[in-house]
Amino acid sequence: MDWEKTESTDDNGNIHMEYTITVKVKNSAGLDDEELGELTDAIINQVQSTFQGENEDGTFSYTTNLIFDFEGEVEEGDFYFDFVDQVDDNGTPTNYVGKVDEIGDFSSNRIQVKVNRPSLEEMAKVSAHEIGHTGGLTHPAYPVYDVDENGVNIGNERENVMNQGYFGTKVTYDQLSYIRHVMNNGYNATPYNRTLKSNLTPNNIKEPTIR
Ligand SMILES: [Zn+2]
Repeated sequence: MDWEKTESTDDNGNIHMEYTITVKVKNSAGLDDEELGELTDAIINQVQSTFQGENEDGTFSYTTNLIFDFEGEVEEGDFYFDFVDQVDDNGTPTNYVGKVDEIGDFSSNRIQVKVNRPSLEEMAKVSAHEIGHTGGLTHPAYPVYDVDENGVNIGNERENVMNQGYFGTKVTYDQLSYIRHVMNNGYNATPYNRTLKSNLTPNNIKEPTIR
């Protein structure tokens, strides 16, 4: 139950990365089968469309598959989604709409997503954001807006899935490269590239809403 990576190189030397993320499901909120089906389908669609792309010259391309495994109970050490009425932080109730237990842990983690939200689209976006955290992605490095807290280029912050509002669903090529780096080396094992700090002037400030 984790992120698995398949990397292949074609005859022209172009590298294709294919990630398959398998997650178990805990349904603490007691969604019925239809609600659970709609929600997980929306999350699959969002995660697969967010975590894909290629670089400008086409030498790297990425695709991602997300699989929900509904078989059996969630056990200690599993990588799983917990659909909850209220997100907790070490047992303390919060107002967050989503949270991962450990940023950069792509093999054993709990992803909480609050289910009593206005739309499937919102819950799917939150889920993609949290999946990004499991791959080691972090928030924009406010007040710097076009790199994240690890110095990874995130482009237009408002369009990026790792902002803490409800706006973005995109990732940059640098973010996909960073996930690959985390998969190969572990989170925090080696610094990625902290020379990207930008001087971009913040033009908007918003309340963090997604943890
Ligand atoms: Zn977050």
